[in-house]
Amino acid sequence: MNSIHLFVDCLITQQEIQEYCAFLYELLETEITVSAFAELIENEDALLRLARTLAEIRVTQLDNQELNTTVFPVEIEYEKNHLFNSQKSSQCLYSGYEYQNILRKEWPFPFTQKKILSIVLTDRRFLTWETDCRYHLRTVILGYPCILSRVGIVEAPAKPKEYYLLKHIGASIELQNWLSANRHRYLELEDTRMKEVIKGYLFQCFYFWIHHDNEFCDNSNCVLYNSHWQEEVLNAQFNHHLCPKHT
Ligand SMILES: [Zn+2]
Repeated sequence: MNSIHLFVDCLITQQEIQEYCAFLYELLETEITVSAFAELIENEDALLRLARTLAEIRVTQLDNQELNTTVFPVEIEYEKNHLFNSQKSSQCLYSGYEYQNILRKEWPFPFTQKKILSIVLTDRRFLTWETDCRYHLRTVILGYPCILSRVGIVEAPAKPKEYYLLKHIGASIELQNWLSANRHRYLELEDTRMKEVIKGYLFQCFYFWIHHDNEFCDNSNCVLYNSHWQEEVLNAQFNHHLCPKHT
């Protein structure tokens, strides 16, 4: 039987988790399990193994596909500390596809099960290597499991162009004024609109799983649109609308 398993790897309230479960249940009336990501790690060996592999899959240069080939003990220690402390999210960058590989290898159940929609909701930053020969930060990486990054939602889609222009010319007072006056045009981690946006991305995970389809929609009003700008996220993923094709 189909089921949904949500792994929480970030600091959010129980109430927020319940809201996501209710949203998913509305999409499919099935069993929904919620676990803290750290619960997967059964013992010290598994912790060390995961810490080492996380250090290995760090992206060190955006224009170099090669990952962190030389791992230092201090990097493993850093990963260990962050695996058990969801209050402190890791500041490192990781290869998203390699992370999915690690999870599937370490925990074939549930992460290789096609009947289970596994979603890891995280505050880690994940990147993928794209055709322009650079790594790009991602909000969601669909697959087994689906990785949904809260920090990615805030940092991957670009803010409006004016923001970068003011930043580029070093107009710090004007930049602060712009940020205050334009809060409706971009997202922050503690933004009240984040919950609806996360639901939009949960929908993308659900759609991928049901249809085995990871093609994004080209209609910018559809929740399945691949938003590159914060303002697009605040339309497509915030409103959860489907285009005529996907309806
Ligand atoms: Zn669509």
